Amino acid sequence: MQNTDVASDYTIKLHEQACLDPIFNCEDRQDFDFAHRGLIHRPDDPAIFDGDGDPAWHHAAFEQFLLGDAPDTVHSSLCRHALLNNYRGLFKVTDGVYEARPESLANVTFVECDTGYIVIDPLTTVKVAAYALNLFYGHIGKNPIVAVIYSHTHVDHFGGVKDMACEDDVRGGKIRVIASHGFVEWVLKEQGLAAEGMPSRNDYMYGENLPVSPTGIVDTGLGQAIEGGEVSCIEPTDIIGTEGGSLTIDGVDLEFMYAPGEAPTGMHCYIPRFKTLHVADNRYMYLQHARSPECSPDSDGNRRPR
Ligand SMILES: [Zn+2]
Repeated sequence: MQNTDVASDYTIKLHEQACLDPIFNCEDRQDFDFAHRGLIHRPDDPAIFDGDGDPAWHHAAFEQFLLGDAPDTVHSSLCRHALLNNYRGLFKVTDGVYEARPESLANVTFVECDTGYIVIDPLTTVKVAAYALNLFYGHIGKNPIVAVIYSHTHVDHFGGVKDMACEDDVRGGKIRVIASHGFVEWVLKEQGLAAEGMPSRNDYMYGENLPVSPTGIVDTGLGQAIEGGEVSCIEPTDIIGTEGGSLTIDGVDLEFMYAPGEAPTGMHCYIPRFKTLHVADNRYMYLQHARSPECSPDSDGNRRPR
């Protein structure tokens, strides 16, 4: 039986050829600069654990193979992509806007208001949401969450909400939860009607049940992996219709544009005070780059490869 932990000669040759393919530009380091920009703090925790003590997120497991020489079993472009997704911690996007990346499949954004913060996309599970919120509070300061925005219906953009917002505070009017037209309907369809098919889809799409290793999950593309633990949801208090709309939350103006795209319903959010446009998964950076075999990174994933 073939040993699947070892790359075949054919695979090794193919990956070597990929490094020489002019379509991939090994020399261009701009994406590493982009990934590093605005870093405030990079935690060293080896993992984030759920309530049962099981790892919900594996920092160290990825770094065991990402921070060494490029593994033979992984295409060099995927390896580079995985390295870039390993640039993690708390980042300043611009004055008043911060992100925690990627302690989850998605990123969470925090927006400073007059007295508190707006959270955009509170991650997939409550444990990683708690981790990200503590990271943010620890470096920027603790103030109340005054609103949560769900950019779209995918679970990595709302599942951690109950750590960041108390449902009683939402029902009592202290915290607003804002989503686009059709949000509840599509969450129920994806998480309820399609629940039987979702695990298989995630297995094929992300290799969800494979171990984190150079022959298992290397990266999902969107982010490193899908985290484990409890998923939550709080029903929106404010729905943005298909014509878009504006709201002022704690002194900060928000302009919404209805924008289904990567999800069946969703919205973009422009924040004039900070000249920032949040578009979630409707836009990705497109690069065709490979990791050259000799370009091993330093031991700190936030430093550029040599
Ligand atoms: Zn999405």
